[in-house]
Amino acid sequence: MGREQDDMLRSGIGMTSQRTRERLIQRLYEEGISNARVLEVIRRTPRHLFVDEALAHRAYEDTALPIGNNQTISQPYMVARMSELLLEAGPLDKVLEIGTGSGYQTAVLSQLVERVFSVERIKVLQDRAKERLVELNLRNVVFRWGDGWEGWPALAPYNGIIVTAVATDVPQALLDQLAPGGRMVIPVGAGEVQQLMLIIREEQGFSRHVLGPVRFVPLLNGPLA
Ligand code: SAH
Repeated sequence: MGREQDDMLRSGIGMTSQRTRERLIQRLYEEGISNARVLEVIRRTPRHLFVDEALAHRAYEDTALPIGNNQTISQPYMVARMSELLLEAGPLDKVLEIGTGSGYQTAVLSQLVERVFSVERIKVLQDRAKERLVELNLRNVVFRWGDGWEGWPALAPYNGIIVTAVATDVPQALLDQLAPGGRMVIPVGAGEVQQLMLIIREEQGFSRHVLGPVRFVPLLNGPLA
């Protein structure tokens, strides 16, 4: 057994220890995440509470993990990168998130922007995510059980939109719900060929930036009880 592992066992807090978390932050920094607020929020957000207890010891690895219902909690690097991209042009007051999942990205965002509006199609995932955010006292989030392809029109427009499942095309409803100057970060593609995109609503039309290959679960259709 390595010395570190030995220390962790003796300290009784296992892989959720502060040192393990620090190592993740260091890694994200080395991989190019430069927004200090984003790094700080990831440092203080307990990702082990967003996965099954049986996987808690892997919560601070930079990897996606299963959360049930064929879904995954996003990889910390991707959570950090997408958050950083949203915030790049300045502070955001209203952010729409599609794909609440475990609620981890939601929890990170809620500490970086004024209000988060989060849509999830699978009711049980949404319920669990809600509980976690209440437990962490993150209260600036409202949840909707519905189909992310439709966004959340009643509360539009949003200064930021983040989609954490891959869409075959950029949903028209989401483009419509983006405020002038607003930014949307969304993986687009099919199967193995997916690209992360940044879409900005300009004075006239939209600018689209392709940021590189990614891997997400698909954005599906319709709510699921
Ligand atoms: N950011 C989440 C990622 C969850 S995976 C996390 O870190 O935990 C993607 C999520 O998108 C899944 O929970 C899935 O159910 C949800 N999803 C897929 N299609 C959707 C749709 N049309 N509307 C809303 N949510 C959707």
